[in-house]
Amino acid sequence: MERRCSPQGIAADVTGPHRGVFYVLKKLRLVVAGDIGCYTLGATPPLQAMDSCICMGASLGVAMGLEKARGADFARRVVGVIGDSTFLHSGMTGLLDMVYNGGTGTLIILDNSTTAMTGHQDHPGTGYTASHQPAPKVDLEQIARALGVHRVQVVDSYNLETLERAIQEETAAREPSVIIARRPCALLKKEKEAVYAVSPDNCLSCRYCLDLGCPAISFSDGHGVIDPVLCNGCGLCTQVCPGEAIRKAGEEDE
Ligand code: SF4
Ligand code: SF4
Repeated sequence: MERRCSPQGIAADVTGPHRGVFYVLKKLRLVVAGDIGCYTLGATPPLQAMDSCICMGASLGVAMGLEKARGADFARRVVGVIGDSTFLHSGMTGLLDMVYNGGTGTLIILDNSTTAMTGHQDHPGTGYTASHQPAPKVDLEQIARALGVHRVQVVDSYNLETLERAIQEETAAREPSVIIARRPCALLKKEKEAVYAVSPDNCLSCRYCLDLGCPAISFSDGHGVIDPVLCNGCGLCTQVCPGEAIRKAGEEDE
């Protein structure tokens, strides 16, 4: 059947900055032990990059269980994925347990600087209390190191090349590792970023842009189409387009 738009629909836009992580995880064909948050939508088409989701904080426990059951070689193909607020709520113990029990897995912390799923509440990593009073701000990188993880990388969630390299490096390492994929939730921005548009003349009709599951992208009249109202200017689609057909709006015909 002809694909005309992302089957995820508009609700999936809450995956915002996490979309690129799931795109890369799917590309690398990794086993993904997921967790509870807006990013759980990474399990839905077209991303379909989450293999388990049990309860808050279960991601790394599942990944560790897979390593115990299938061995350290299999663990090279497994990652745990958890949001920043969920990690601080109930994920830290799983990381400590993995270090303590000799695990060699990789945890990706999707840091969007908020608790997006339940309405953008603050958490100990934002520097504010739930009633938005100033509070001590904990550092995710320092927490990971304090729990005994020596391999910690912080990467930009909007840079697919950097994401892929970091995930390949850390899953290959035979020791515990943490990747913090960082970008604030797109819905937190007060000002709209410059949006992107497709140049129909340069479009190859390959539909690769639809694989991102971005609700702003559809396919019509033989070329990709970007809805400027839904586009948040993340630039991910420009990184997957082989025809260089996607550029900032106003520059697509240059
Ligand atoms: S060439 Fe670019 S804009 Fe056109 S369908 Fe392919 S990825 Fe989408
Ligand atoms: S820049 Fe591309 S991927 Fe990002 S929101 Fe806009 S259309 Fe979607």
